[in-house]
Amino acid sequence: MMMQTEELQQEIITPPFNIKEFCLDYHDSFATIDQVDPKLLAKFSQVKRFQERWEADGKFREQVVQDPYSAFFRYGLKLNPEDVRLKWDTSCKDILQFPLLKLSQGFFDRLDKVTDIDSEVSDSHIRAWRERQIARTSSQFNLAFHKVIQHIPVSFELSKGCSVGCRFCAVSALKFSDIFLYTPENAKLWRGVLEVMTGFLGTAAGNGFCYWATDPLDNPDYDKFCLDFYAITGSLPQMTTAQPLKNIEQTRAILKLSREKNAICNRFSILSLKMLEKVHQEFSDEELLNVQMNFLNDEAENSVKAHAGRQREANLKKGQGDEESHRQGTIACVSGFLFNMVERSVKLISPCNADERWPLGYMVYDQGTFVDPDDLKILIERMIQDHMPRMLRPSDLICFRRDLNYQTLVDGFQLSTRIKTFKFHHDSLWKELGALIHQGQYTTAEITQLLALKGVTSANISFYLNVLFERGVLDFEPQPQEG
Ligand code: SF4
Repeated sequence: MMMQTEELQQEIITPPFNIKEFCLDYHDSFATIDQVDPKLLAKFSQVKRFQERWEADGKFREQVVQDPYSAFFRYGLKLNPEDVRLKWDTSCKDILQFPLLKLSQGFFDRLDKVTDIDSEVSDSHIRAWRERQIARTSSQFNLAFHKVIQHIPVSFELSKGCSVGCRFCAVSALKFSDIFLYTPENAKLWRGVLEVMTGFLGTAAGNGFCYWATDPLDNPDYDKFCLDFYAITGSLPQMTTAQPLKNIEQTRAILKLSREKNAICNRFSILSLKMLEKVHQEFSDEELLNVQMNFLNDEAENSVKAHAGRQREANLKKGQGDEESHRQGTIACVSGFLFNMVERSVKLISPCNADERWPLGYMVYDQGTFVDPDDLKILIERMIQDHMPRMLRPSDLICFRRDLNYQTLVDGFQLSTRIKTFKFHHDSLWKELGALIHQGQYTTAEITQLLALKGVTSANISFYLNVLFERGVLDFEPQPQEG
């Protein structure tokens, strides 16, 4: 203990981080953890611990502002406070004067990077449908949120319900009731499902993950499913869990696997300061390097509880309605296929701000069940056929999305949300088209006929209508279904 105290004191009184000690052509181009000098990695872990404690704990923040050296010592941080002073000292403005902070930021950003999913989805209908969903949400979500939401193409629930039961659960997870265990029969089905989905999505299937309104570590066989996922898609699924301490050896094995397979970082949802302390005690700095903490404890600095699911119900009771400007109206991040392997069910979903119609923050375009991979393939093909045309169909009813405000312009029209305004103008055809669509009673074929009477060619009309279709401003919102 004494040794540790001396070691800590020594660390805190050493001069701030010296970039020249390391051969730093690192900049932002770290490829893997193993390529970074271990001494530098040790520094990064301490910066990470400091930032986590800062974000999670209001008392720590107060203590640092008053006396950073004592606070760092008290919390066991092996870091010179001068290396991270930018965090609390408002007289410090330039991150370049804090090379350790700057480097660690580049390092952790790199670990969290997801590859470019859109270019990889192999089925062109699914790809175009997803692009329309992304275009739609760009005018529905705050810019900061829109930038980070990844629109993952597939996710798999490996149990039914969630044992954690968070009061703010934005997807209103059901009570935990069943597990999809790795039996020979289930393993065969699982591999078949992954093969079918990889057939439709290509390598983008590897960006999928294995939880939703479930916690991955409710499933004792989670790592076995991950290994199949890796074998078939070429990637290890990202894990977010609120139960890293439930079975520490299982968590440790998954973190080790992630590092070995060079997977993107996993996330621990931290529900209390006590939990953070235990996580810091139980896992080594090295193990936590590739783990991002998602702070949901009450003391957290920037804890965002999305206005959806159970949190939305609580907000509504407090008089905070859907129309208010919430920082985040969903935690849903899948534009694609959501599976529950216990039920053998699949839904076609896409995120939206939660409201009366979609209280869980995602639209359900379609849903069905399957008995085996062949059956699943037929179901997905049917969903593609029904919901994912590349172009508007003659029988499609053409109207604007219900959340868009339509206004005429001298030479066209505009559509706005509180986030974004789209202008379609500089052409009289836009004006006529906007007026017809705003009436919300004509199909593609009828609009084509009406404008043909005025001498507009059908090719021209089709081009203009499909521009609107691709921008995601036309109403293709599904009707909620039971179940
Ligand atoms: S937020 Fe996550 S961990 Fe908490 S109840 Fe919902 S699904 Fe479970």
